[in-house]
Amino acid sequence: MRANCAVLTIEAMAKRLHIEPEGSAAPVVCPYCGEPATLSIEPVGMAAEQYVEDCPVCCRPWNVSITRDGEGPRVELTRDDD
Ligand SMILES: [Zn+2]
Repeated sequence: MRANCAVLTIEAMAKRLHIEPEGSAAPVVCPYCGEPATLSIEPVGMAAEQYVEDCPVCCRPWNVSITRDGEGPRVELTRDDD
């Protein structure tokens, strides 16, 4: 059904816009303990950024890698001991 498709598309877009980070917290999962956490990130800034931040749950150091493109910031966490 064409009408249903259109509705789904709008819903999908709204949902997508809703989760678009507005410069505050990005949901992440700790690579050590697997606990969900949030990471404060700036929506604009360098195209690629790396720093270390401690997990608020287990206090082990995350290697935080942020890349920014047209879609907004993307966050990647890796362990320090890999
Ligand atoms: Zn942790």
